[in-house]
Amino acid sequence: PKTIAVLTSGGDAPGMNACIRAIVLACERENYTVYGYLHGYNGLLNQEYTQLHAERVHNLNQLGGTILHSARCREFKTQDAAERAAANLDALEVDMLIVIGGDGSFRGAMHLSNYWDGQIIGIPGTIDNDINGTDATIGYYTAIETAVDSIDKVRDTADAFERIFLVEVMGRHAGFLGLSAALASASDFVLLPELFESEAATLKQIGEQLSERREQRGNISYIIVLAENLWPGGINKLAEKLQSLTQSEVRPVILGHVQRGGAPVSQDRIMAMKLGAHAVSLAGSQTNCVMVGERYGKPCEVPLPVTWSEPKPLSDSDVNTMKQLMNNRYA
Ligand code: ATP
Repeated sequence: PKTIAVLTSGGDAPGMNACIRAIVLACERENYTVYGYLHGYNGLLNQEYTQLHAERVHNLNQLGGTILHSARCREFKTQDAAERAAANLDALEVDMLIVIGGDGSFRGAMHLSNYWDGQIIGIPGTIDNDINGTDATIGYYTAIETAVDSIDKVRDTADAFERIFLVEVMGRHAGFLGLSAALASASDFVLLPELFESEAATLKQIGEQLSERREQRGNISYIIVLAENLWPGGINKLAEKLQSLTQSEVRPVILGHVQRGGAPVSQDRIMAMKLGAHAVSLAGSQTNCVMVGERYGKPCEVPLPVTWSEPKPLSDSDVNTMKQLMNNRYA
């Protein structure tokens, strides 16, 4: 029988708990021992863990957040920290460590592999979907739903007052969440890091689209989705610019951390369960330092460095649909 340890690290994402549950249940089936390290890599450094059994994960599938808590841990980048973590894992006789997190967490896992001989498996858990080698990440679909639900509500009030709203969505430095949320909410314009040309070009495009619409339909509501960390000076700066450009009030709304919370939607739950169970099935095999992701509905294994070596591209067909239906004067 093997001993497996699991931790959640970096930004939390809905579905992490469903993944923990799957790991624990798959381990119980094999008679493996499972430990959950607390607070991301901090728990690994401080030997702060809890043994997980089936009772602990009862009723857990639908819960947002992570029962193991997540955290950032700057110290983990040092050699000393990785050596301490390795000694702690050995003291518990851990055979395999599963890290559920984003690309930063995977870099941490790779760093640890230089000092620890055990098996290391990553599982993509982040609402940003910015990880190469997997079609989606755990939490991404739920975050889209949350953002769309919020933008729909903004639309109601924008329509009532015939106002312009600027809505900032998360995504770190990637536009996946912004693009999906803008498409599904039928927003009028979307600003994404992957497609951003310049401040001037963007303002010109929005100005033209808006004045054409106003000529055709009179005063209208108008929703712009903005990816975080994109506009120089931030959302308020852009709101000011748009206000003087359009001579209308522009209301900025930052959706913020609500996008990280909530019960996971079924797509995230099912993916989390499949990836967690698949990770456990690799225990004792030669497979090491890989992320278990999903391609075309099936689990796949991707070397950890591949997950961050290049930025993950947006889906061409999503971008084309956006270009056909939004950000242009016909929209
Ligand atoms: P998200 O993008 O959803 O926030 P993430 O996993 O990318 O998730 P980060 O804050 O980038 O979040 O990374 C999480 C943790 O991983 C860091 O706090 C740190 O402990 C560890 N880590 C990140 N980069 C490295 C690195 N180069 N070497 C060692 N550890 C790292």
